[in-house]
Amino acid sequence: MQGPWDVVIVGAGILGLATARELLLRRPGLRLLVLEREDRIAAHQTSHNSGVVHAGLYYPADSLKTALCIEGRRALYAFCETRRVPFRRLGKLVVATSVAETATIEALFERAGANGVEGLELLEGAAVRRLEPDVEARLALHSTQTGIVDAHALCQSLEAEAQHFKETLARWAALQQQRVEAARQAVIDHIEHNEFVARVRELEESLRQQYRRVRWIAVQAT
Ligand SMILES: Cc1cc2nc3c(=O)[nH]c(=O)nc-3n(C[C@H](O)[C@H](O)[C@H](O)COP(=O)(O)OP(=O)(O)OC[C@H]3O[C@@H](n4cnc5c(N)ncnc54)[C@H](O)[C@@H]3O)c2cc1C
Repeated sequence: MQGPWDVVIVGAGILGLATARELLLRRPGLRLLVLEREDRIAAHQTSHNSGVVHAGLYYPADSLKTALCIEGRRALYAFCETRRVPFRRLGKLVVATSVAETATIEALFERAGANGVEGLELLEGAAVRRLEPDVEARLALHSTQTGIVDAHALCQSLEAEAQHFKETLARWAALQQQRVEAARQAVIDHIEHNEFVARVRELEESLRQQYRRVRWIAVQAT
């Protein structure tokens, strides 16, 4: 695949892949290149996290973070459902274990609800135990929309939707190989250069000594 490119995305993690997919959906003819320094997608944070799909409980009211988290979660579940990406809407319990903590849980419930987070309920201790027998709580916020997703399968699915990536990743791998070769040659050149300099210094030193000897013989002769 040849440039010039309309868009170049650096990094084939979840953000790079999702951005690439969205751009290609909007502009199918876009000449888009995803550059990745590893030889595979999702090699870093994307495959090294807990895989939680957040409901958006903790973010401030009227913030973009809240709005995007809620919208993104819905879009993510819909994407996973249609593409058969493994996920589970397990739900989450945020618990108060003392009277003092119950006010915090109630405030969280109010704020998250006001922010538009759906599927929230307050549970008393007995109801919490029915869900999680090992959890002792006075009160809990139950977020039914929190879940987990197989992040790697998700990235593979995103990648499959934009076949360009395969070519561009292969191209990037080839580029990397060239760079490794170039770096190796530079090291060899450096060593050879140093060896050359050392040899010249040796010769200089030996000439200097010979010269001194010649001078000494010359002095003796006079
Ligand atoms: C401990 C931890 C737990 C988390 N838990 C969750 C969670 O439960 N739920 C959740 O939604 N989020 C979670 N996150 C956040 C989430 O993992 C990140 O927000 C997300 O993975 C970031 O994706 P990314 O594509 O920006 O980064 P990455 O996945 O790191 O991708 C960046 C890519 O860019 C490449 N790259 C970098 N520099 C270059 C370069 N110069 N040239 C070419 N390629 C380059 C890298 O090789 C990498 O593949 C967690 C994060 C951490 C650290």
